[in-house]
Amino acid sequence: MDRRVIIAAGHGGGDNGAVARGHKEAAECVDIVNRTVTKLRADGRIETVVVPHAFDLREQISWLNARFPQHESGYALEVHKNAGGSTATGVEAWYLTGSTEAGNKAKSVLAELARVSRLQNRGIKKDVDYRGGSLAWVRQTKPWAGLFECGFITHDHFNNDLYAEGLFRGLLKLFDLRDQAAQIYRVIRRSGVQLGAFSVRSNAWTTYLGVMGDAVILNREGIDVTAEFVNEFGDDQRIVGTPREAAGVIAGTDGPGEVIELDG
Ligand SMILES: [Zn+2]
Repeated sequence: MDRRVIIAAGHGGGDNGAVARGHKEAAECVDIVNRTVTKLRADGRIETVVVPHAFDLREQISWLNARFPQHESGYALEVHKNAGGSTATGVEAWYLTGSTEAGNKAKSVLAELARVSRLQNRGIKKDVDYRGGSLAWVRQTKPWAGLFECGFITHDHFNNDLYAEGLFRGLLKLFDLRDQAAQIYRVIRRSGVQLGAFSVRSNAWTTYLGVMGDAVILNREGIDVTAEFVNEFGDDQRIVGTPREAAGVIAGTDGPGEVIELDG
């Protein structure tokens, strides 16, 4: 497959899609697409083509098929938001029924979308199971295609940068590209003061222990990953020291190059 994504916001052409809690699906999808495109273009390794937002679904499909007529021309990704009962939550992806490879591609992107958006992964779905029995986006587009539901407009968050970051990471994975920016873990005191930013996870944990947990650990995208650290290190007696010992680590026993910055 060519290293190209052809990305579209769902609905368009004047159709708002689902409307709930003061949000219109079509506008949210445009925002998620724009943010995803910014990340893809900043990275620069995947050619990124945006289907014009003004088009409706039929126009979107004919526009992209005219330009990218081969199956291997790239990955056609459409962004939607789901709607359901008040408690329905999570992300899911739709693919062409019968195509195991299309399913695997969707699954690979979806895993990152779920991880970064911190929403339940509802899995990949065959388009014959869609209400109406098929989805034009995955059935009529010529390149590989997937349709991604970025949370429920009726329930889930509207932190569109997280959906965009998830799609971006998922596309990197789809094209076997490594995330080039190193992950950073910032330990931030509940007062707001940053204690440090670390590339080594155990150093972030030790700093967190140094203030007896009166802090949160945020990753590069600003996502609170404290619970993930507690799961990883919480039972490890080799790391748990007294607060004083742990504070010594903040003061200067970190290995060279491990502390990226230290604000206080
Ligand atoms: Zn939709």
